[in-house]
Amino acid sequence: MRALVVSDVHANITALDAVLDASREYGFDQVWCAGDIVGYGPDPHEIIERLRALGARCVAGNHDLAACGLMSVDEFNPVAADAARWTAALLTHDERDWLGGLPAVTAPSEHATMAHGSLRAPAWEYLLSPEQAEAQFALQETPLSIVGHSHLPFHVRESGDSAYPLFVPAADGATVPLDTRTILNPGSVGQPRDGDARASFMLYDDVAATATWRRVSYDIAAVQQRILAAGLPPYLAHRLALGR
Ligand code: ZN
Repeated sequence: MRALVVSDVHANITALDAVLDASREYGFDQVWCAGDIVGYGPDPHEIIERLRALGARCVAGNHDLAACGLMSVDEFNPVAADAARWTAALLTHDERDWLGGLPAVTAPSEHATMAHGSLRAPAWEYLLSPEQAEAQFALQETPLSIVGHSHLPFHVRESGDSAYPLFVPAADGATVPLDTRTILNPGSVGQPRDGDARASFMLYDDVAATATWRRVSYDIAAVQQRILAAGLPPYLAHRLALGR
């Protein structure tokens, strides 16, 4: 089984379609999405339609919960809050029900558990430190766990000794063997924040027991135009070109 693993698509259909096109070259049987399907971007209808058509296994991110009224935007920064309100006003009842029905944590296969932020605080925690990785491993009942939320592609292998778990950034083409317990972040499709503006995604192969990260360029200018035309905060258009 091969899974295309994506996260933080953030209502950017141009980026998601570029990822799907690039992934067909490698082949995949399933699509897994680690949350933040909507928010920030201009295409919430298209993203939800595409993921549902693919039968994607998804968890809810904080932006998904905010967009369907299950989380307050009080804790969001003003730009994110504006985008969440814009998205909420646009969603149909059916889309809101679908988003609102997504689990916080799910196991898309017997080998992997997926949550948006972390297993102990699925909607909120940015898993970025060795201490947090140890807490994740303590709760992780499958060999692999998949998170998003930070928009940073990386993997953390559980260390067998007393050394702290090491966060390894995953560049385009990086492949890791999955021969020990591992935390994986595919990076962000729709709003990368590691200084590389290209959409980030991961291909998981449970037979070869590998994860491979890829980046693909997409038409950023077209998405920027839709963001501005929608009346979303201009900063959301600007940052796409920076990968920040
Ligand atoms: Zn996000």
